[in-house]
Amino acid sequence: MAASIAIVGAGFSGTALALGLRAQAPSDVTIQLVDRSGRFGPGLAYHPTSAAHLLNVPAGRMSAFPDQPDDFLDWLRAQPGSAETAPGTFAPRAAYGAYLAERLRAGIAARDGARLQIRGDQATAIARSGDGYALTLATGGALTADLVVLALGNEPPMPPPELGLLMGTPVWGGDAWSPAALQGLDPDAPVLLVGTSLTMVDVVISLLDAGHRGPIHAISRRGLLPRAHRTPPAPAMTLPTPLPPRVGAVMRVLRAEVAAGHPWHAVVDALRPHTQGLWGAMDPAEQARFLRHARAWWDVHRHRMAPEVAARIDAAQSSGQLRVQAGRIVAASPAGRAATITWRRRGETASERLTIARVIACTGPGSDVRRCANPLLLDLLRRGLGRPDPLAIGLDVTETLELRGGSGDVSQGVFAIGPLTKGRSWEITSVPDIRVQAATLAAHLAARAAQVGASAVGPVAAGVAPAGTWRAVG
Ligand SMILES: Cc1cc2nc3c(=O)[nH]c(=O)nc-3n(C[C@H](O)[C@H](O)[C@H](O)COP(=O)(O)OP(=O)(O)OC[C@H]3O[C@@H](n4cnc5c(N)ncnc54)[C@H](O)[C@@H]3O)c2cc1C
Repeated sequence: MAASIAIVGAGFSGTALALGLRAQAPSDVTIQLVDRSGRFGPGLAYHPTSAAHLLNVPAGRMSAFPDQPDDFLDWLRAQPGSAETAPGTFAPRAAYGAYLAERLRAGIAARDGARLQIRGDQATAIARSGDGYALTLATGGALTADLVVLALGNEPPMPPPELGLLMGTPVWGGDAWSPAALQGLDPDAPVLLVGTSLTMVDVVISLLDAGHRGPIHAISRRGLLPRAHRTPPAPAMTLPTPLPPRVGAVMRVLRAEVAAGHPWHAVVDALRPHTQGLWGAMDPAEQARFLRHARAWWDVHRHRMAPEVAARIDAAQSSGQLRVQAGRIVAASPAGRAATITWRRRGETASERLTIARVIACTGPGSDVRRCANPLLLDLLRRGLGRPDPLAIGLDVTETLELRGGSGDVSQGVFAIGPLTKGRSWEITSVPDIRVQAATLAAHLAARAAQVGASAVGPVAAGVAPAGTWRAVG
């Protein structure tokens, strides 16, 4: 019996995997790609409404396929008026979403290779069914598959509990991607962004584009802003190897290279080919040390702003509109259509107060799956089909990305890809890393699907969704 593979989540991770599988799996395999947003390709990152939201990785490094490194650049150059696009261009994120959707459409229409189908629905539960799995769908249907891949991306940020009293009031804008974030906001009103990462940068750009004139406060523990990409890029360099798998020792190597005259951008980029190996060689205590002491530093140097975006952030800071502070929110209380925020500067004991009309959580993704709101993940944990990794920054997966269940045994057929696998790889949040993971997993799943197809006893029937519910990407 031919195998079926269900991929839940059609952002970059699910899309890249589906396309890789379509090309590699036996032609009688069915790949079913499900996404609750009804969007196929863009996911969370690549469907911004504003053209001012740019990729933070140059176009020349954003191909969805590691074996076709210029695929995105070629696509971009084929768009009207873009023939001269340079590899170092920071293209609009929406253009990248269109690229992924187009590649997916072509994959669905292709006559050769495995069959790829899509469905707009939310998977809410997962249970064993024969030798495979059944996914419960929010619209009432069910989907069975021999192999299941969770490509769910990041969970929304979990705002500090001190902001709890604001929830449900007009002041609470939710997370940066929530439709309520900027809705009905008076352009002169003071805004508080909790967190100073790239998400905060996105919200500032959205506010500026919407003509916001009021003060924008951004507060995080360290008040660190993402750094800007260097123009022109620093020449590539290599680090002395082997690198010791200890945070302090690696930091010393990096500092020595900077002291020797290499631009820090090049030094940080030179570490990238080693980060997954270093992470894997560290024990959980050392990994936890990295998260505690070096992560904030790493994040701002590694996940950089496009130069055009950095220039706007600089200008907003220079004009005094954007005020980035290091500190901690101590309390928040609603006061009519505004709120009083009590906060303390880093290293100070005295508290200060701000009157704020809108608070938006930009604290970075919530990664503890036990505290997330995704019903599928919660159901998976409840049934013991998965468990958090030792640092609780994602799911516990094997080297081939198969989930470990509650008792540590391998789930036999449920996999994860992308940010959910951070505990194993750490550096698995951006396209250049995920595309390699997707290609590797596609090869593994194609082989597994061939085994399923060859087995004498067929496992479960391929997708049981009622006819007509599958449609083309749009
Ligand atoms: C704002 C932003 C900008 C970024 N910019 C860049 C960049 O320029 N370059 C770069 O390399 N990386 C960038 N990244 C990193 C980015 O996270 C990755 O590149 C990649 O997009 C992650 O894709 P994903 O598919 O894993 O997650 P997502 O894009 O979050 O996709 C997950 C999908 O799963 C679906 N889903 C979740 N749960 C369910 C469920 N239960 N049932 C059905 N569907 C479900 C969601 O609807 C979503 O579409 C950016 C990230 C963000 C947030």
